Amino acid sequence: MKRIFCICVCLALLLCACSLQPGGRENKKYTATFLTLFDTVTTVVGYAESEAAFEESAQGVYERLSEYHKLFDIYNEYEDTVSLKYVNDHAGAAPVTVSREIILLLQDLKEIYRITGGQVNAAMGSVLSLWHEARTYSLSHPDQPRVPAPDALQSAYLHTDFDKVIIDEAASTVYFADPLIRLDVGAVAKGWATEKVALASPAGLLISVGGNVRATGPRDDEGSAWIIGIQDPDNANAHLHTVYLTTGSLVTSGDYQRAYSVNGALYHHIIDPDTLYPAALWRSVTVLCPDSGIADALSTALFVMSYEDGQRLLSQFGAEAVWMDLAGNLVYSPGFKAHIRT
Ligand code: AMP
Ligand code: MG
Repeated sequence: MKRIFCICVCLALLLCACSLQPGGRENKKYTATFLTLFDTVTTVVGYAESEAAFEESAQGVYERLSEYHKLFDIYNEYEDTVSLKYVNDHAGAAPVTVSREIILLLQDLKEIYRITGGQVNAAMGSVLSLWHEARTYSLSHPDQPRVPAPDALQSAYLHTDFDKVIIDEAASTVYFADPLIRLDVGAVAKGWATEKVALASPAGLLISVGGNVRATGPRDDEGSAWIIGIQDPDNANAHLHTVYLTTGSLVTSGDYQRAYSVNGALYHHIIDPDTLYPAALWRSVTVLCPDSGIADALSTALFVMSYEDGQRLLSQFGAEAVWMDLAGNLVYSPGFKAHIRT
């Protein structure tokens, strides 16, 4: 089988990267890095007796994630896969037959739309694409950065009603009752896919898809927890906290991700449906809960909500969170601090 990733055994780290298993076996720490999935960096970390054993697990993660990457891609079409780009381009004219995974993702997104009162709206692609285009242009033309025109945002917003995305589970089709609707599943797809892949992967792996972290179990037979850093929005090399994770997920939404500036003002990628501009309540929100898809949905949702509304939503899922406000203060859900490594 072709090797599509690099496995690094860091010799300098071997001393602290070994774990002694019952019976005297010594496992080494391995890391695989993939650069081609979900427009971000994916890493898989695990302790294994041999490189070959780890490579098999990491290869499985890569192959499963690649399938989801293609299915949920809104920018590219594939010969062997009906991606969401194809759906966006054709579902306004007639129902498009899609895979079961797209049906399941869209059903979950519709539910998230409902429980967040429309604050997380994957049918907002027409608005989000204007921001995507402005960001892409601005990053490649730093001397002419721009934001979308307000009237273009308002016109696009007229075509964001998720109830007009008709999901027919029995026929396995998607149809847009409003032909100008476009889907953008970026708020949830990475975590949703990571969760499905984690459930199909061996225990004892740490899978990180662009910081969307999911542990499939403790890192050794002793039940040791993984230690995960929460990035400081002001310093890519510093952490707000490090937390323990054995099984479950930690996901962050932040204003430092996919951001650009115009005349000194920062424009990031999480859009408040009430203003159609980047949400301006928080610098970052990190959610801790067992399911990575739910953690991803909640982190985006909380980013556009008040603390009180966010806390109410968290409670429905038994999830925990830490928010950083615009002044740099941290606020916590009641149970979050118990997970912090002191
Ligand atoms: P995340 O980093 O998980 O918070 O997701 C951010 C991504 O979700 C953005 O890059 C957009 O693709 C998409 N997005 C931004 N704002 C919203 C929103 N209010 N509802 C749904 N999707 C959004
Ligand atoms: Mg999210």
